[in-house]
Amino acid sequence: HAKSRGRNGVALFEPGMLSDAEGRLTLERDLGQALDNGELSLHLQLQVDGARMPSGAELLMRWRRKDGSSVPPDVFIPVAESSGLIVALGDWVLREACLAWHVLDRAGHRFPLSVNVSPMQFRQHDFVTRVEAILHETGVPPGQLIFEITEGLLIDRLDQTIERMHALAALGIRISIDDFGTGYSSLSYLTRMPLYELKIDKSFIRDTPHDKNGTAIVQSILAMASHLGLRVVAEGVETSAQAEYLAAHGNACMQGYLFHRPMPLEALLAELQAAPQASLSAA
Ligand code: C2E
Ligand code: MG
Ligand code: MG
Ligand code: MG
Repeated sequence: HAKSRGRNGVALFEPGMLSDAEGRLTLERDLGQALDNGELSLHLQLQVDGARMPSGAELLMRWRRKDGSSVPPDVFIPVAESSGLIVALGDWVLREACLAWHVLDRAGHRFPLSVNVSPMQFRQHDFVTRVEAILHETGVPPGQLIFEITEGLLIDRLDQTIERMHALAALGIRISIDDFGTGYSSLSYLTRMPLYELKIDKSFIRDTPHDKNGTAIVQSILAMASHLGLRVVAEGVETSAQAEYLAAHGNACMQGYLFHRPMPLEALLAELQAAPQASLSAA
């Protein structure tokens, strides 16, 4: 098997492994049972505002197999998409997000939670109805949820996508474009959509501030978002130089290892409880 062991004994799956049809089928079969087997969990990663205070959190799926090995989302999410499993997983993530929101809210930490929605999920004809049902069932104020979609959804069937965004916005849900700047879609769509937020892809943040091309893109996104009245989140902020650059050029929220790593809800609660302003000393 094209499986290698990392330093701490965690199995690493090489992307090349997926070209192996057998390996892919195994992964698909195992993923189909992972939810029932209790192998899936969600981590939350806090975002901070310009004052370094918590302003939201993104839910990120984790798959830890019974043998202790972990499969990264970049490997299993594409499998979940191509097999259709993402529809059931997506419902599960949304329901878990709503439960997590209540736990945080009861502990005195009210901020919106961001959920990744894959194109396959978004395109289900009954997607909006399912979302509405989960909101109703859990009683989370819809304005407390942000759906992150990728530019892949904007390439074809744009009219259908926009119509669906409006239906979600009518429920009160906020829409964010994830990995912004990495797709090939036209910018003219931005004004036709009920958008709330743009997330600057971490590849551009990685090049900031030392690389001229990276910073040019970051500055353009910040300026455009400001003109359009959109919130911006910079993802993958790892250094104080990046955080300072962002603070000097706009008012983006930040998500990255410099401030908070993705972690289970209990750990996040402990972090918020123990030192809500701990991130102030990070930069
Ligand atoms: P994403 O939505 O763009 O999520 C941000 C990714 O950046 C996460 O990777 C997060 O752990 C990582 N990250 C955060 N801060 C830093 C940093 O400072 N440096 C670096 N290098 N990385 C950072 P993760 O958790 O591995 O997830 C990868 C992708 O898998 C996500 O990218 C998203 O596209 C997908 N994904 C994860 N959970 C879900 C889910 O529940 N549903 C769907 N449809 N996709 C998901
Ligand atoms: Mg995301
Ligand atoms: Mg992203
Ligand atoms: Mg990404």
